[in-house]
Amino acid sequence: MRSAVKLAVALLLGSLIVVAVYRADGDKAAPTAVKASPPVVSAQPSPSLRAAEAAKVQTPAKKKPRKPVAQAQPAARKKSKRTVSLTFDDGPSPYTPKILNILRRHRVKATFCLLGANVGDYRKTARRIVREGHRVCNHSRNHADFTTLSRSAARANVRKAQRKIRNVTGRSPKTFRFPYGASNSVTRAVVRGEGLRILGWTVDTRDWQGPPAAVITRRAVRDVRPGAVVLMHDGGGERGPTVASLDRTIRKLKAKGYTFVLA
Ligand SMILES: [Zn+2]
Repeated sequence: MRSAVKLAVALLLGSLIVVAVYRADGDKAAPTAVKASPPVVSAQPSPSLRAAEAAKVQTPAKKKPRKPVAQAQPAARKKSKRTVSLTFDDGPSPYTPKILNILRRHRVKATFCLLGANVGDYRKTARRIVREGHRVCNHSRNHADFTTLSRSAARANVRKAQRKIRNVTGRSPKTFRFPYGASNSVTRAVVRGEGLRILGWTVDTRDWQGPPAAVITRRAVRDVRPGAVVLMHDGGGERGPTVASLDRTIRKLKAKGYTFVLA
């Protein structure tokens, strides 16, 4: 009898163990299945998260009637991050002093991407740029399309401009902006090899196309985001509209809470 009981107990225990193992497997299987699904599931939550974010963003917008109150906090919070860099290419030129006058009136510092050849022609203006606290950037010697240059020609071009800017202004640019924004892996390596950071832009006012001043301002202000780099031109052609636009551009950016930093 006892052995029969033992057998029964053993069988019972055995079946329990089997169930336990089965459950363990089931439990193991379950998490794997859950683990496998998150990538799929996580792809779905993001739109809803975005929707939630959009809702958050929309909330202040809905409160538009109470504008001063509703915007006071976000503006104060974002203010420290609301920076913008104004950059002027292809100078110095006869228009540069006019731009410097406007910047000085607003106590705004900007970055000037200079052509080595023009620095030689407008030495006083080049020195004034530095003297008034602006930053100089190397924009090549002669505005060559660097995608057409060999490695050695690109290097010589960068170095000539660098030397000219340093000799005239006493400053060595730390940045280089490709003419036309045109580069390739070879010329980018050349520029970096010269110890220069490549300077791009995020807002293109297309002022070189000669639109009215109001259009230049609208483009600069409409497309600006915190950390933006705005591209304008003080040289390379008729820059009356750029000069005429600058005062309003600065006023509007200041009104949006932007502070001006060097690029
Ligand atoms: Zn240029």
